[in-house]
Amino acid sequence: MLGELLDQFTASVNFCIKKCLEHNITSRASLHHVAYSEWKSRFSLATHWFHSAGQVATQTLRSWRNLCRKGQADLNKPPVYETKTMRLELWSDKNSTGICKFQGNTVQIRVRKGEHLWLPLLVTKHHEQAYLRDWREGKLKVGEVTISLSKERANIFVPFKREVKSKHINGVCGVDINERSVDLTILKLKEPPKHVKIDVSKLPAIRHSSQLKRKSVQKKLDTPPQRPVQKQKLQEKYWRRESNRTNQILHTVSKQVAEIVEQEQVAVAFENIKGIRGSMRSMKSTNGKTLRKDIRRRLNQWPFHKLQFYVDYKAAQRGLPTVEVSNYHKSKNCPICSQYNRPNGHAYQCLRCGFEADRHLVASWNIAKDGASHVPADCWQMQRAADELVAQAKLPAEPEKIPKQQFATEF
Ligand SMILES: [Zn+2]
Repeated sequence: MLGELLDQFTASVNFCIKKCLEHNITSRASLHHVAYSEWKSRFSLATHWFHSAGQVATQTLRSWRNLCRKGQADLNKPPVYETKTMRLELWSDKNSTGICKFQGNTVQIRVRKGEHLWLPLLVTKHHEQAYLRDWREGKLKVGEVTISLSKERANIFVPFKREVKSKHINGVCGVDINERSVDLTILKLKEPPKHVKIDVSKLPAIRHSSQLKRKSVQKKLDTPPQRPVQKQKLQEKYWRRESNRTNQILHTVSKQVAEIVEQEQVAVAFENIKGIRGSMRSMKSTNGKTLRKDIRRRLNQWPFHKLQFYVDYKAAQRGLPTVEVSNYHKSKNCPICSQYNRPNGHAYQCLRCGFEADRHLVASWNIAKDGASHVPADCWQMQRAADELVAQAKLPAEPEKIPKQQFATEF
């Protein structure tokens, strides 16, 4: 039944795409005008299915046109919607024509007049504690539900929206993400800068050990008699285990950062890491050579984006904004006098004013300084704060360390 619906939805989207192209239409409203009656005669579904399909179709076409403009897609080959996924408009007291209703442990779908489909949900303790309780109390709202089908089970994504009051902020926290540590510098008005180092050296250790494990499995199962099925199963298992362990640490670390940020009531500033993988290719090690292939691979596997994403949403949940600053010379310019220096290994020393510190700390400090000029409007005075603080900072700066023992990871 669900598979049938998905097929119908996919066909509807492709029908809409075709109509849009035929009539040169870009909006959902004009699509309705042109194609609705034909759609209604072809598909026996409630009217709102047409709206949901039309939305997907117009969005698909928009991104396809953008790709064509950039020369990454062919104008003569229009897109075909093949994904077994449907996003359904919500049906509520306000929007009585929606097709999908979330009811805690089931999702109700209106197929056509008088015909409904109920999908039971597997609700875990985590879902209950994190979302459902607040949803019942009206603290959370539900967004558009996405349903997809894979092999034998359906995945149902229910986005929850929480309205958060944005808090008044008294400063900026610069976050520098490194392979073995996450460094924070907190700049606040009339207070000396505070530095925090969170040890994440467990991450590369996990990756290294599971790489060895996978290698040995491969070696063992490649010697005859070959067992490809078993090999794949085992390798998948170790991949999964690695990603579970990594994710747990990322969640713990991002929560720590969010809690510090909440306690201090400061905005979060990140380095813009777009293109970090590309820049690594041209990055030079201290002896002037390009980085070795294995080092590049190691750095490439570092989940920068994931950690940023987690910190970002965890800060947002607490009503604190995040800003992104450029990554230009963040670990090279002196935070005190702005002199350009090349750090030597982990140590940073300014040749002009003599400031000495850990290079990661310098980076997070510079990110915080830069972030101060990007934070939202009500904090326009932050730039001054950053400058003032620099003047009264004590040298050399020592970070407060959060040791790795804090992660109780047992597997
Ligand atoms: Zn200096």
